[in-house]
Amino acid sequence: MGAGPGDPELITLRGWRVLQQADVVLYDSLVDTRLLEDLDAELVFVGKRCGNHHMPQEEITELLVHFAFEGKRVVRLKGGDPTVFGRTGEEALRLAQFGIPFEIVPGVSSAVAVPALAGIPVTHRGLADAVCVLSAHRQEHDPELSIPLYHPRTTLVLLMALQTVETWTPQLLARGYPADLPVAFVCAGATERQRVVVTTVSRAAADAQAAGLGSPALAVVGRVVGLRDRLAACERTAHWRRYEHPRQVETREEVCAL
Ligand code: SAH
Repeated sequence: MGAGPGDPELITLRGWRVLQQADVVLYDSLVDTRLLEDLDAELVFVGKRCGNHHMPQEEITELLVHFAFEGKRVVRLKGGDPTVFGRTGEEALRLAQFGIPFEIVPGVSSAVAVPALAGIPVTHRGLADAVCVLSAHRQEHDPELSIPLYHPRTTLVLLMALQTVETWTPQLLARGYPADLPVAFVCAGATERQRVVVTTVSRAAADAQAAGLGSPALAVVGRVVGLRDRLAACERTAHWRRYEHPRQVETREEVCAL
């Protein structure tokens, strides 16, 4: 089940309803624990954070099987949508192997919602008619990321973007991305700690480091980032006000006048 990004209100109605019926909930570090407060269920934290693995994936998968064989209704709760870099396929395949019935409850993925809540629509008529969501987490055996060749109307959304920024920015340049193409980092999107830093491809690594950004963070690369200023000027929605304290917004003016 997907819990949505950040704000606990962004879980789906279906997710919320199914959660109330759970006997056991296995949840990740990106899940806001306010969602779990009043549940009559056993809560098991199986969170993983980059470099600090709490429980290996194989163990999590076996736990699901274990609880299912005990006849429990088990919810595997993950941030965002469970099928976007959420290991859902592996877990579901294992359940299928044992003939354990399961249901996938989609969630609102940070890949789309977090940019939106920072004033960046990932598509925009005339500016972007394609979106590529990719993991910036490198596999040890293959340091190359699946970055497509530059196309001016494609928005890139890089998840797990912070640790490897020094690796992926040269890869963008090598694939034809202009050095001054805007990049927005959004940290802790849809929470009171949301922070946004707007920079460019060539300065992304230095600016991310200088700003001391923390996880979870994603990066949006493309011309749609330039819409943020105009949207921010007029946006008065509760979300905008709720998440982003004006002091936490750092726009490098000289680089984002697109
Ligand atoms: N299944 C999740 C993604 C899991 S990968 C989803 O659909 O959203 C974890 C990455 O997602 C993080 O490293 C970060 O890049 C991104 N992410 C998740 N929640 C986020 C948030 N609230 N703000 C910014 N990025 C977030």
